[in-house]
Amino acid sequence: MKRELERLKTPYYLCEEELLENNLKILDYVQKESGAKIILALKGFAMWSTFNLVAKYLKGCTASGLYEARLAREEFCKFNADAEVHTYSPAFKDEEIEEIARISDHIVFNSPNQLHRFIWKVKEINPAIHVSLRVNPEVSSSPVDIYNPCGLYSRLGTTAANFDESVIEHLDGLNFHALCEQNADALEEVLKSFDEKFGKYCKNLKFINFGGGHHITKKGYDIEKLIWLIKEFKQKYNDIDVYLEPGEAVGWETGYLVSTVLDTFHNGMDIAILDTSAEAHMPDTLAMPYRAEVRGAGKAKEKPYTYRLGGNTCLAGDIMGDYSFDEPLKVGDRVIFEDQIHYTFVKNTTFNGIKLPSLVIKRKDGTYELIKEFAYEDYRDRLS
Ligand SMILES: *Cc1c(COP(=O)(O)O)cnc(C)c1O
Repeated sequence: MKRELERLKTPYYLCEEELLENNLKILDYVQKESGAKIILALKGFAMWSTFNLVAKYLKGCTASGLYEARLAREEFCKFNADAEVHTYSPAFKDEEIEEIARISDHIVFNSPNQLHRFIWKVKEINPAIHVSLRVNPEVSSSPVDIYNPCGLYSRLGTTAANFDESVIEHLDGLNFHALCEQNADALEEVLKSFDEKFGKYCKNLKFINFGGGHHITKKGYDIEKLIWLIKEFKQKYNDIDVYLEPGEAVGWETGYLVSTVLDTFHNGMDIAILDTSAEAHMPDTLAMPYRAEVRGAGKAKEKPYTYRLGGNTCLAGDIMGDYSFDEPLKVGDRVIFEDQIHYTFVKNTTFNGIKLPSLVIKRKDGTYELIKEFAYEDYRDRLS
């Protein structure tokens, strides 16, 4: 088995089915204990070769627009006939709305304007569709502005001040999404504000969607509190349906990115160049930013040999960070970045012509399957 792995060309992402299933079981426990339905946010994790497994546990997918909705309908629903496709977009387009209406079970509008613009068309095409409006509860303790949907001047969701009561007769439910990598206490704060601002509109609704950002599968997440909050909410609103739509919590710690050292040298400090890229393959390490863990490595100077790890593009800032190792790095050594399955390959680019990492799955029976390898054509075909 080890040899099988050594033959794989780097870079590649490797997702382990067993780890993914462990997360799905935790999410299923929340579903069973709380009565909530959990759907996968494709924005964070969309490796559809695992959907046979994901669809055993989760009730559908949440999509942000036509392409994600199609992926949900074509690649997820075939494994679960009852699976639901929920489609939201900051703004829908005339040329896409009909297909979206046809393939979605829920449609979520971002503003009263959008709802009034498209509701009749959508209902004509799919009379059974569930209609929702995304509201902005205007509370969030999200750690960084780029991931705060409720920050100042947010374009995501309708604030209480912009809520237009003429939409109520069309609504089956309401959506909010206010969290990012947060615990149940943050949800409790959001729910308080939701109650105050929008509770009065919930009387005749069928569902409320609590969005994503619940870090349910992370060690230390207060699962029992989440279950209690959902049950309390359902009790308060006449046993209303509750949805959660995590992305990160599904892919959390289910695999890694494997790269190879291409060169090392000294320029004020030791530097290693890897055959991957922070910019193209681990974008959140620069955008958020955060430091990815490297298997077997410590913080700078913790171990005897410290290196600045950098990518193989010409962007000066294409740097993963400074890491220390027990032994000097040599050309050909593997460097493994942990927890690189969510918000990585869904965002990859071919910036600077760098090769896209392959996608590998470790099946539950222990075999490794190379699912997808990318080539020059993947770069060329996007450019003209
Ligand atoms: C991003 C997003 C999610 C998923 O968020 P995670 O942080 O990955 O759990 C869910 N719903 C909406 C509307 C989103 O934009």
